[in-house]
Amino acid sequence: DGLVLPGGESTTMTLGIAREGLGDPLRDAIAGGLPTLATCAGLILLDDDHLGAVDVHCERNAFGAQLHSFESDLTVDGVAGGTVHAVFIRAPRVTRHGDSVEVLATVPHEGIEAGEAESVVAIRSGAVIGTSFHPEQAGESRLHVLAFG
Ligand code: GLN
Repeated sequence: DGLVLPGGESTTMTLGIAREGLGDPLRDAIAGGLPTLATCAGLILLDDDHLGAVDVHCERNAFGAQLHSFESDLTVDGVAGGTVHAVFIRAPRVTRHGDSVEVLATVPHEGIEAGEAESVVAIRSGAVIGTSFHPEQAGESRLHVLAFG
């Protein structure tokens, strides 16, 4: 009924997807409109360097190493009832997105590229919701509801 691409380690997950021959089935299911929630490494898997299932490019470990993991309260478009407590663990950010992709949330991000003030950390593309952060680590289920109803 739906697909969760969880956090973890995108290099390892990419090797597993290749070994099990899951690339085409995943691409086909997502292209066919299967409701999908992709978090952190899962979001990386969707990008143009990996499955190519969503028109985004992600920068891995965009906020630094494990020690620079952080938590933040974010306003997420489409999520009612107040801010989302977001846990970023060696998180990626979306550095490019096509016209089919809607930005749902950003965080302030200073100093990585001149003039760039915000990093995209949540997107929607058709039936896909992608987040840089881990909603489940904070007991947050509203992103799951957004993805799966
Ligand atoms: N840094 C990991 C990667 O690049 C993602 C970390 C996570 O999923 N929390 O795959």
